[in-house]
Amino acid sequence: MYIDISDYLERLGRLYKKVDHAYSEIAEELGFTCEGCKDNCCQNVFLHFTVVESLYLIEGFRKLEREVKEEIYQRAEDYNRAYASTSRPVLNLKKFCPLNFDGRCVLYEYRPIACRFYGLPGKLVSPARGAEEFRGCWRFEELYPGSERMLDRTEFYKELAALEGDLRKRLCYYQKYKKTIAQMILDEKSPEGLIPRNYDFFEGY
Ligand code: SF4
Repeated sequence: MYIDISDYLERLGRLYKKVDHAYSEIAEELGFTCEGCKDNCCQNVFLHFTVVESLYLIEGFRKLEREVKEEIYQRAEDYNRAYASTSRPVLNLKKFCPLNFDGRCVLYEYRPIACRFYGLPGKLVSPARGAEEFRGCWRFEELYPGSERMLDRTEFYKELAALEGDLRKRLCYYQKYKKTIAQMILDEKSPEGLIPRNYDFFEGY
């Protein structure tokens, strides 16, 4: 039996809009943009922890041209090999995300929350880890040394956790989830991927 997950994805789309709005508000107030940055944050290793975000990303991925998908599968294989053979890859691996073509994300509208928050300093209070603070990117720190402006991520992550809980209950999927973008893409390629397969994006898809 296929489960229609479109409501969950719509809820996530609305949450992403709120995140983008909160980010833009602070960035505009400070005049902070990525314009002229010599780095590219898509070379950092980001890990993602929710099934709902991976399904949202895959929804976008499925709309790409076949040739682009093939290229991304190849890049995801390469990325995964480098990831697996690097010790402490989050700290030590610098490699472009397989979705980055010529400096730009081909699934920008579908990118996960970690990519959306990156750049501005942030804070988060969670039951598991208590209060945490995150530094801004190097460019932010160079432009605004000593700035105390931060994006509070707490309410957004609470909403994401509630949405993830609802979806997992619906899919009866309770395994731990922690993946790079490359691993999400490879799950889509492989029929044995860990993403549950009993969902559908839209009725009649
Ligand atoms: S998903 Fe997109 S924004 Fe996020 S790291 Fe990959 S290319 Fe960059």
